[in-house]
Amino acid sequence: MSQTRSDPISQRDIHLAQQRIAALTRRTPLCFSPSLSLQSGRRAYLKLENLQQTGSFKVRGAANCIQQLISEQQQRGVITVSTGNHGRAVAYVANQLGLPALICLSRQSPPYKVAAIRDLGAEVFVHGSSYDEAEAHSFLLQQERGLSRIEPFDDPRIIAGQGVIGLELLEELPQIDTAVIPLSGGGLLSGIALALKAVRPTTRIIGVSMERAPVMVYSLRVGRPSELPEQPTLADALVGGIGRDNHYTFRLVQRYLDEAVLVSEPEIAHAMAWALQEHQLVVEGGGAVGLAALLAGKVAGLGQHVAVVISGGNVKEKVLQAIVAKNRIVLESGGSLDEL
Ligand SMILES: *Cc1c(COP(=O)(O)O)cnc(C)c1O
Repeated sequence: MSQTRSDPISQRDIHLAQQRIAALTRRTPLCFSPSLSLQSGRRAYLKLENLQQTGSFKVRGAANCIQQLISEQQQRGVITVSTGNHGRAVAYVANQLGLPALICLSRQSPPYKVAAIRDLGAEVFVHGSSYDEAEAHSFLLQQERGLSRIEPFDDPRIIAGQGVIGLELLEELPQIDTAVIPLSGGGLLSGIALALKAVRPTTRIIGVSMERAPVMVYSLRVGRPSELPEQPTLADALVGGIGRDNHYTFRLVQRYLDEAVLVSEPEIAHAMAWALQEHQLVVEGGGAVGLAALLAGKVAGLGQHVAVVISGGNVKEKVLQAIVAKNRIVLESGGSLDEL
């Protein structure tokens, strides 16, 4: 696919990102899943970003972005507003490079998440009672201290970093014809789609969100970046808007997405339990939506060589235990656990 002038990111940007982030990130395994292949009638593979540094793919984009700041910007430090995987990724990269990082959170953030970010050496600033209040204050702090803001998805450097997953998929599975990818702000899907379609334009790109407030899918339907009220979901990493003034990911997803699938809370829970029982993998709700779509038979246009991106594994042990207890999959032998 030739690059047009309106393309904010080229294949070359993704190749450069691959070199830039190599020392800070892991090349994650692509594992063949016999049981998912049986169930789907395809050759199905899992791309294990739950085994990535910090437990999610977000570290790829953060590394590519922070590495491209000029030295003076790096020394002043970086800032972001995130209680989740993005905040963790930014804190990790800053720590590895010896740079100051300021992570802004609201008073609603659970203490264990605050502690996890502090453990990565970042300064945590708690302000306000909502994400919006924390964000508003972060702009003041950014100005005051001259910090560089690291966006979670709507930035070409972030998109190119996530796109490195696409290059790895092509190297290990050159016959890939379908990628099933969790979808929220669209940085992950845009990057992977750019990398795959540049080499194999017919590759199908399937985006999967939760049924509860899928903002990108809704925005695509109405034809412009829109908003939906947030709802609690097991896929907490996918919660949030795409920004009314979205610059990049809305158009990229609009252009590259072949099929959008929505999954329910029970389908997400089942996929998390399945991943643990079939593959001994700890997968968080947001990381399991692609798997959930396949297990529920909800993807219409599957090819023969399918890669499912498992995007993260940061789930509290108690939550996972409760889900597994409720979704215990009957052992094929029919034997009880006591007999093992
Ligand atoms: C951020 C995140 C996503 C969604 O990525 P976007 O680039 O916002 O679409 C999916 N899964 C996990 C685990 C995440 O942390």
